[in-house]
Amino acid sequence: PVVTRFAPSPTGRLHVGNVRTALFNFLLARGAGGRFFLRLEDTDAERSEADHERALIRDLAWLGVAPDAGPDSDDPAGPFRQSERTGLHAEQLARLEAEGAAYPCYCTAEELDAERRAQVAAGRPPRYGGHCRDLEAAERERLVAEGRRPTLRFRVPAGRGEVVFDDLLRGEQRTDTATLGDFVIRRADGSPAFLFANAVDDALMGVTHVLRGEDHLSNTPRQQLILEALGLPAPRWGHVGLVTEVDGSPLAKRAGSRALADLREAGFLPEAVATTLAHLGHAFDHDDFVDLATLAAGFRPERLSRGPARFDPDQLLYWQRQAVGAAEDAALWAWLGPRVHERLADAGIEGEAFVAAVRENLRLPEDADHWAEVVAGTIEPDPEAAEEAAGAGREYFTAAVEAVALHGTDFKQVTAEIGERAGVRGRALYRPLRAALTGRLHGPEIGPLLALMGADRASRRLQPYVS
Ligand code: GLU
Repeated sequence: PVVTRFAPSPTGRLHVGNVRTALFNFLLARGAGGRFFLRLEDTDAERSEADHERALIRDLAWLGVAPDAGPDSDDPAGPFRQSERTGLHAEQLARLEAEGAAYPCYCTAEELDAERRAQVAAGRPPRYGGHCRDLEAAERERLVAEGRRPTLRFRVPAGRGEVVFDDLLRGEQRTDTATLGDFVIRRADGSPAFLFANAVDDALMGVTHVLRGEDHLSNTPRQQLILEALGLPAPRWGHVGLVTEVDGSPLAKRAGSRALADLREAGFLPEAVATTLAHLGHAFDHDDFVDLATLAAGFRPERLSRGPARFDPDQLLYWQRQAVGAAEDAALWAWLGPRVHERLADAGIEGEAFVAAVRENLRLPEDADHWAEVVAGTIEPDPEAAEEAAGAGREYFTAAVEAVALHGTDFKQVTAEIGERAGVRGRALYRPLRAALTGRLHGPEIGPLLALMGADRASRRLQPYVS
């Protein structure tokens, strides 16, 4: 069975880049009838906060990609906080050390830095030269006596040759282990290095597939070597291209509006965000607006793109339109929020009827504000609308006021009456009426708006053009 996971560090807000990674792993699991875990890589204790953890879980749930198991679940694959797995990491680290597959390294940061600079100056790629690889016991004791605290380095097996893995979307990836250099798997403070804990946790938790950013591509051969040395199974890895702004520049995380919470607060529907992200670097057979289950059924890792995926706000608006169109009136009414709710309640107007009348013109909740005023409050006509209405003249509006007095809000009758009395039809009949009643030249169908605003309010809007 397929098991995937999302493994964020809970150090900040989820942005569209890492949410997309979560979504891809979710879709892969769902499409295969498998399971999707959330594992928090929270060992960087200072930066990780309980608040971030809660926000992250809430964000995923909002998007509809809640994990099958995660922090606080008692699933046997857990625990799901890396900070609660330190015993397991220590055990595996000790095993490697006891078997000689890893060794303590006493080099200081300054010594390593000097080595690196010398290598770069000589035009060679920087890598650990192996100073502590085969220390004599006496030498080791001397370094310990100096008070040095060692890291633990993985001993890249001599003569191992190439490590190869079959990337889910990039195909075969080969790395000559001679280029790697022994690497740190435990920091001097005793905590496991990211690539160690990450690989060991995937293996022990039974993760079978890992989709992650291409920024991790260089970690993968090292993680393979670790798992090989421990006799643990490696997952299938797939490295996706990163998300960028439309112009190809790095994602503007700090500019706001790229965090999931910002999109939610701006009024984007979860279905619109999820659909946008699902299409961001994945080619589906169809571009219809569908639910997550259908997206999952059409999801294929090999259709993920290797290159950067450009996050286009226009795409988000496009899918938002589809999502609004697909939503029930009651759901949209709730989505509009308290400001509009109160406005209409004060006027005694029923919410779902309002939504039914204006939904074609809504992309974000704020778009409802003007139409709420049209049916329940007072309006300030925009200049084009004012001009249109004024241009129709007194005779037209005298007819309109009388038509409403006679027929109330029966739109058909009202317009027929105006047409007859003022001798107009087509645009000359409808445009001035719309302009005077709504203060705009464009908008939802006028009949339902007239019904919602009522004859009195309509009359008061027409009156000024008579005198
Ligand atoms: N914590 C890592 C990250 O957020 C996980 C990488 C992975 O998915 O393996 O980048």
